[in-house]
Amino acid sequence: MALQTKIKKGENGNWKYAEVDGVLYFEIYMQCPVCIMLNKPNVPFTYWQHKDCGGRLFIGDNGKYICEKCETSELIALWGYNCPIHDKKGLGTYLKVSKPEVIAEVVSVAGQIVKSAGIPWLQRVLNKIDEQRPLFLQNVPQQN
Ligand SMILES: [Zn+2]
Ligand SMILES: [Zn+2]
Repeated sequence: MALQTKIKKGENGNWKYAEVDGVLYFEIYMQCPVCIMLNKPNVPFTYWQHKDCGGRLFIGDNGKYICEKCETSELIALWGYNCPIHDKKGLGTYLKVSKPEVIAEVVSVAGQIVKSAGIPWLQRVLNKIDEQRPLFLQNVPQQN
């Protein structure tokens, strides 16, 4: 894949993207979708790290996340999230999202991404999220 060698910086230098094999990836800077699903107040925007290696996470218009460092790649529907707000006891558990609408919302308002990537890119991602709907629905619903 060689994602790392293809990472470029955007115009103002504070966002990163990469095009690999026709897939356009953007570094994600977004709210925790689990917290949004649980209706937590004031959910901050953050970068996301891959738990296994600490590499930054990118999101592609193939409907997958990819780690910039180890290049682990996984469908958005199958990804688990940990953050200090919904895991305030620090249990280190990674929760999946059972509602595709929540991911769609979080990605749609993600800082920098949509502005940089543009509406056609966003629409492709939203279509992929919709295609993954059956997988999202298989995830365990999280309750507040
Ligand atoms: Zn969270
Ligand atoms: Zn990694």
